[in-house]
Amino acid sequence: MHDEFFKQLVESLEGYAVFTTDLDGNINSWNSGSERLLEYTEKDVIGKNVSLIFTTEDVKNKADKKEQAAALKHGQGRDERWHVKKNGDRIWCSGLVFPLKDQAGTIQGFTKVMRDLTLSKRTEDRLTFLSEASKILSSSLNYQKTLNAIAHVAVPHIADWCAVDILDDGEIEQVAVAHIDPKKVKWAKELRKREPVNLSDSSSGIVRVINTGKSEFYPLVTDEMLVVASKSKKHLKLLRDLRFKSVIISPLIAAGKTLGAMTFVVAESNRLFTKSDVNMAEEVSNRAALAIQNAQLYKSAQENEHKFKSFFNSNIVGVFTADKNGDILDANDGYLRIIGYTKEDLQNRKLNRWTLTPLEHVESDKKAMDELETEGSTTPWEKEYVKKDGSQVPVIVAATLIDKKFGTNITIVLDITERKRLEQRKDEFIGIASHELKTPLTSIKGYVQILERTLEDLGNDKAIMLVSKTNTYINRMNSLIADLLDVSKIQAGKLQLNNEVFDFYDLIHDGIEAIQPTSTRHKIICDNCIHQKIEGDKHRLEQVLMNLLSNAIKYSPKADKIVIKTQKNKDIITISIRDYGVGIPKKSLDKLFQRFYRVDKTAKDFSGLGIGLYISCEIVSRHGGKMWVESKEGKGSTFFFTLPILPKYE
Ligand code: ADP
Repeated sequence: MHDEFFKQLVESLEGYAVFTTDLDGNINSWNSGSERLLEYTEKDVIGKNVSLIFTTEDVKNKADKKEQAAALKHGQGRDERWHVKKNGDRIWCSGLVFPLKDQAGTIQGFTKVMRDLTLSKRTEDRLTFLSEASKILSSSLNYQKTLNAIAHVAVPHIADWCAVDILDDGEIEQVAVAHIDPKKVKWAKELRKREPVNLSDSSSGIVRVINTGKSEFYPLVTDEMLVVASKSKKHLKLLRDLRFKSVIISPLIAAGKTLGAMTFVVAESNRLFTKSDVNMAEEVSNRAALAIQNAQLYKSAQENEHKFKSFFNSNIVGVFTADKNGDILDANDGYLRIIGYTKEDLQNRKLNRWTLTPLEHVESDKKAMDELETEGSTTPWEKEYVKKDGSQVPVIVAATLIDKKFGTNITIVLDITERKRLEQRKDEFIGIASHELKTPLTSIKGYVQILERTLEDLGNDKAIMLVSKTNTYINRMNSLIADLLDVSKIQAGKLQLNNEVFDFYDLIHDGIEAIQPTSTRHKIICDNCIHQKIEGDKHRLEQVLMNLLSNAIKYSPKADKIVIKTQKNKDIITISIRDYGVGIPKKSLDKLFQRFYRVDKTAKDFSGLGIGLYISCEIVSRHGGKMWVESKEGKGSTFFFTLPILPKYE
């Protein structure tokens, strides 16, 4: 009666496995709940030892004996651990063990009640893994170490195997691998060595995941799959020995870029991955990818800093960093040497870019700082610094912003004292040489004039024609020497202007009349030329016009016209000279007004010294005007210059 009641009670506990054993652990009752949980029928287990449903580790550790001892001592034993089902799969069960007494109170065996907690155990494992992984990921910037640590937490929490592959310079490199059986790590490494994975091998799951950026999930790996994946008989044997059962490969993606893949494998533990495991793998991979990206950014920032430091300390050029106000925050010895200050000066007193800049360079510095703010960097410009001893040093500087928010910038400074000295000697030479040439040439010109008159008296026409040709060349030489002398005058700040008031229309008119006979090909047209009174050096402005017109003729050998225009706008008159010639490359446009600059491409086809525009520009700016050019290669150029109009002539 008592037995029957107990049996009915046990059967009614459907969700639970309830079974009894004798004192030696041999099973003597097995309810339907046990069958459902462990898939053994009553027939399978009656008379068999309970170790049948234990894991090999628990059998080795004599877990059943420990449980029974606890039950005997405290009236019940409690445990939570893996058990093995008939098909070999593991289930996580919580269980209670009670001693089983007969009516006389003698212990006859044990009753065990078990509940399947695999699902919650797996969830708990995933959570533990995710939290451990998060801790690891935020703990170090050495990503190889980090990934290795993650692989070792993944095993055994969620997988028996975990490996991480990173794409490095087009090569796939296995940077971390963990296995529940450490011996097999060696195998895995060996396998990779023997069968390296390369990006073109689309039979590799890792390659596919890296190429597509999408996870691959194989809930149950079959032997046929291994056969397909293997590359040789040896390889297949190795794959079979590894006993893959269930595999997830998830991509490591950061900022839209696939950095590699993480592989999770179930082999020994006789369970299969589910969709929730895939979600978890993707979550960890996303976090790991971020950690890799951070580590790589940190590494490259460190490398850059190192490169910059080596450059900064090399002192090949002067380098300093400054804030928005121009206060110098740091400077290398190279810069301090240029400005004649010491490190102590830098620390003790406030060095500032503006106080180190002489007044005459403040304007160009301001322009450069505006460019720095809008463009992020400046075009190199020439300036001078006031040294500690009050003298001035010529330099070329260029700056770039390093922090837009605070306006912190870095400036590179090159001392050009030596270059300037050479330039000065060259200028002096040009000045002396042109002077020395001018004196005999003036005498030659005088004698030729006397000769011309003598020949006229003699009526020798052929000789007169030859002398007149000589005169043309003497004039050309004279104008070249005059130009060279002008350059020296400009350099020495000695170019003088003799101002007068005149009608600009007359200047253009006379200019056209003088130059038109030099070209039979070109028609020089004055389109809408107005009468306008100007105050300036007529002779010098004529020089500008003649220079622009002779260039227009020279650089448009195939064209047939040149157009001059004037335009008045309140207190400014703008003159333009348009030709339809060879044009000027874009990159040369801003260099055209520099001394001795000639466009490489055209220099060999046209003779010249490259100083006409330099002198013209200087003359115009001395009059308070501006000069510029617009041009398209092969289509022609238009040179413009402006002159101010005095209010009384407006
Ligand atoms: P030069 O003509 O003696 O070389 P310039 O100072 O007058 O010297 O001109 C400088 C350079 O500018 C020239 O060498 C030429 O390359 C270019 N250049 C000047 N004017 C023109 C033009 N109208 N068309 C094309 N190139 C020009």
